[in-house]
Amino acid sequence: EKLKLARDLNVRFPPDENSAPAQVYRSGESQWVREITNDMLDTGTPDPEYRAILKSLGLRSVMIVPLTARNTRVGVMTFIYAESGRLYNEDDVAFAEDLASRAAIAADNARLFEEAQHARAEAERREHEEAALRKATESMAATFSVNDIIQEIARSALDATRADGSFVERVSPDGERIVVVATAGDICPEVGASVPFEGSVAQYILEKKQPQVVESLGQLTTPLPGTLAETHATSAAIAVPLIDAGEAIGALVLLRGERNAAFTPDEAKRAHTFGNLASLAFRKVHLLEASEQRSRELEQLMESRTRLVRGFSHDVKNPLGAADGHASLLEDGMIGELTPPQLNSVSRIRNGIATAVSLINDLVELARAESGQIVLKKQPVDVREIAREIVEQYRPAAEQAGLSIKGELGAVEIVSTDADRARQVLGNLLSNAVKYTPSGGSIVVVTGMREKTVVIDVVDTGIGIPADKLNVLFTEFERIDPTVKPGMGLGLAISRAIARLLGGDVTVSTERGRGSTFTLCLPKV
Ligand code: ADP
Repeated sequence: EKLKLARDLNVRFPPDENSAPAQVYRSGESQWVREITNDMLDTGTPDPEYRAILKSLGLRSVMIVPLTARNTRVGVMTFIYAESGRLYNEDDVAFAEDLASRAAIAADNARLFEEAQHARAEAERREHEEAALRKATESMAATFSVNDIIQEIARSALDATRADGSFVERVSPDGERIVVVATAGDICPEVGASVPFEGSVAQYILEKKQPQVVESLGQLTTPLPGTLAETHATSAAIAVPLIDAGEAIGALVLLRGERNAAFTPDEAKRAHTFGNLASLAFRKVHLLEASEQRSRELEQLMESRTRLVRGFSHDVKNPLGAADGHASLLEDGMIGELTPPQLNSVSRIRNGIATAVSLINDLVELARAESGQIVLKKQPVDVREIAREIVEQYRPAAEQAGLSIKGELGAVEIVSTDADRARQVLGNLLSNAVKYTPSGGSIVVVTGMREKTVVIDVVDTGIGIPADKLNVLFTEFERIDPTVKPGMGLGLAISRAIARLLGGDVTVSTERGRGSTFTLCLPKV
């Protein structure tokens, strides 16, 4: 009964800062009252009720000693004699002080031990979290579809935070709802469950751009997806915003069942880091998907172009074939004898038709090359020979245009290439040189080696090309000034594509009004 009384006393009149234990605690000096007299109680305790309790306890003698460990005060210890009537003497005080200092050290050791335990547990937790985060980073870096990445976010977030459940919600495309798209762990709503975006936790955190810690789901007044609110009302949660370059993607929600500890603000911070990582991965995948989409579209475009070219070539080649048939009847004298000049004209007609047909064939083949199906007939070729032939082939046209033409044919190494294709490219360059050089100018075809590459320059003194147009020069159907000469704007595009198929290239250096040099280079092997 006296113990109960003593406890009540402590509760109703807790020692304040002027009390004896507080003084001992502050000073580190023991206090000892050998014999407590009624006088002392009467003068020392103004509160009558307090005094009455003290008296009824029958206190006779008291010692209060400090608990000091490693220079730190951890508390005080009070010894009291009551109904035994005994009194503490000096030896008792010395004994009590010794006992208190041992007790203090024991208590401090226990505290240090607990701290060490805690630190070890914390280190283990961090290690686990870091490993999980590392794994998450790796797998996110290796993931290539948005669905995969979202699933990965849910799964690895669960792992990294040792939560009991996790799910990812996405804002629907119309922005009206927030829908569960991936889940992991034991506590989570059903995939597909949704709530209106307006007024949802997701909306709140996406606006705040900060995670939110929820002590128990039951507290929330906002709607939760599926049956979560009923089935897991006591679970704790962290909701992390997922934001991709300013655009709200959705939220990552981590859940912990009632038996496990609630989430701390520190954990919310780590979950946020995780959310940022997830958003980053999401962005990467988004970009990747966009670029895949673009290349798919490009492929489709190429394919439809190839089809177009094939259809077109078929339609054009038929009437050309008929025209050539009639020209050959004329040539053979089937429709009457022709004079030599007439015969000459007819043969030019047939040459023209042949050139057109071969160009169409080339176009078709180029289209095939673009879809990866051209056949090259490579053989050892002396490019000088081709250059010589081509100069002779274009001499009549050049002379007719009032241009001088010559070859400066330096020695070149033999290359393995498709001679017909090389001829086709050079033919294109020369026909352009003739076309775009005003009368009185000159054309020179130069062969030589530049480093380990065979190069053929077609140099003209023509109209040149403005510097700002150089980038479109090799693009199909692009012409610098359509009024200068007729043409389709196909020649250079085809030439470059073929040169590249041969492993080389066509390049240009030019100056407006002074002339151009188009160069075909071919690799030795
Ligand atoms: P096309 O000659 O049928 O127009 P090309 O693809 O051969 O098509 O050439 C594209 C454009 O490049 C030409 O329209 C012309 O403006 C310019 N070009 C080509 N070769 C020369 C050249 N040697 N000198 C000046 N301009 C040229």
